[in-house]
Formats: sequence, C-alpha cells, structure tokens
Amino acid sequence: MSNKQMNDIKKALEAKRDELLTSTGDREEILIEHAAEEFDRLQQQLNREVAIRNLDRGSTLLKQVQAALSRMEEETFGICLRCDEAIPERRLKALPWAAYCVPCQEFIDRQRAAGAVDDDEAGDMAA
Ligand SMILES: [Zn+2]
Repeated sequence: MSNKQMNDIKKALEAKRDELLTSTGDREEILIEHAAEEFDRLQQQLNREVAIRNLDRGSTLLKQVQAALSRMEEETFGICLRCDEAIPERRLKALPWAAYCVPCQEFIDRQRAAGAVDDDEAGDMAA
C-alpha cells in the first residue's frame, strides 16, 4: 500500500473516531426521565433503550477504530491479527478498522455466534 493510500485510510479512521467521540449527544436522552403522560413515558423509555443500544454499538466501533489507529503507529496496520497475512486493500478501504482478513473474520464470527468466544478471548487468541 502506498503512503498516500495509507494516509487516506488514516484520515478516514480519524474522521470516524471524531464522529464517534462527538456523537455523545445520545447520552442526554438517557438522562431524560420526567414525563407526565404515560405515552410520553413509554416513548422515552423506548428512546432510552435505542440510545443505550446505539452507545454500545458506538463504543465497540470506537474501540476498533482506535485500535486500528494504534496499529498504524506501530506499523502493523493491515496485518491480520489472527493469521499474520496482509488484509486485502479492498477490504481495508471498505472497512478501515478491520483487524482480520475475511476468512479469519468469518471464523471468529462463527465462533462468536456459537457462543464459543467473546471479544476479549478473540483478542487473546490473536496475541
Ligand atoms: Zn487472517
């Protein structure tokens, strides 16, 4: 991968990180509690659940993005954490924070779907 391509990906990662870091507006919805009408109460409960779910998804992604940026600093970016093969450029362009090549990601997803491994264990396996 050329320096320019690497730079483009780095910019994309940093933009994504900033976007995730600034999207904490969702948190305010979690704090809104008081509502007179029952309907409003239910609506807010729903909003809160959605907001919490979004936060979970956002913080997982944020971790992946930050991990990708630190791999860039360590110059191990683009190397699959499981098999040490280069992750195809096409995949990195589509998913700059990808930590695994496609076959390894599929393997991990299958393990995770089967309940055999969680995120942390996947990290240990790679280390
Ligand atoms: Zn791999």
